[in-house]
Amino acid sequence: MRLAATLRRCAVTAVAATAAVLVAASPAAAVPPVTPVFGTTIDAYAAYDPQNTCDPVAKPGVLGFRELALRTYPTTGDSGIVRSCADGEVTEHKEGRAWDWTINAASGADHARADEFLAWLLATDAHGNRHANARRLGVMYIIFDGRIWGSYQAADGWRTYTGSNPHTDHVHFSFSRAGASKQTTWWTQADQPAPWPRTERGSTGTDVRVLQHLLNAAGQSVTVDGEFGPATETAVRAFQSARGATPDGIVGMVTWSKLLRQVQRGDQGSAVRAAQVALNATGANLTVDGVFGAATQAAVASFQSTHDRPANGVVDPTVWQLLIAGT
Ligand SMILES: [Zn+2]
Repeated sequence: MRLAATLRRCAVTAVAATAAVLVAASPAAAVPPVTPVFGTTIDAYAAYDPQNTCDPVAKPGVLGFRELALRTYPTTGDSGIVRSCADGEVTEHKEGRAWDWTINAASGADHARADEFLAWLLATDAHGNRHANARRLGVMYIIFDGRIWGSYQAADGWRTYTGSNPHTDHVHFSFSRAGASKQTTWWTQADQPAPWPRTERGSTGTDVRVLQHLLNAAGQSVTVDGEFGPATETAVRAFQSARGATPDGIVGMVTWSKLLRQVQRGDQGSAVRAAQVALNATGANLTVDGVFGAATQAAVASFQSTHDRPANGVVDPTVWQLLIAGT
């Protein structure tokens, strides 16, 4: 009896584990890749620059792109990057700057994955740049399910593809030479810190209010008036000394980073006030009460959406950076 009970318990555990895996792998749970934070600089549309040599070595930008797609859609497959020089066609595969993503166009779930990823590639970014991720990755053209999108003819959108292979078992991506060699902004500028304001004696305004609340959250006691005067400077020096930084009284990247703390729903206090002041400067209309409730959470989520970030309503280091660099 004891053995049977043990077996039954194991069976229940096994079923639970299987269910968890199924939930995690469900196509409905798939989301497109997270877009890193970028500045306003963006790549020009890649010109049409077809294969003209043979160098069948997978290029780093193509390997990185493949990894991005397969990590995002782990149930999909890889139909290859390089093709032999003996292949008669003109194809960027022979230069290692094309990738075939295994997608079955006849499968609704697979087609949805491709549609989602392609929509993500061709979406307009927070700065108003059209086809932003495709440009940042150096995508030159895409062929899937009887249609082609070319960066050199982007104004025409998706066009009917008239080649002999309708591409119904894979999505073909060709890359510019810059994209293939990781010279485009996706690779060179991703997550570069936005400029931190240099806040010091004589500074005024929102940055100073945010700073004063954060100093109070860190145990200092300053009046929040938006004026960086002698008392604020003294508090900054004391904070810097306590945190092992040079006590120069100037708040730049290092001191800002030390001051920031993650806040989220349910938190209270001066760090929440700092976030509320910063959010109000971006157009929110929050009461600065130091209570992180539903309204503050919604304001953070809205701010995250406009910056192409997952809208989880948490003021994490990235959100702080966007808030402070933007105020
Ligand atoms: Zn191909």
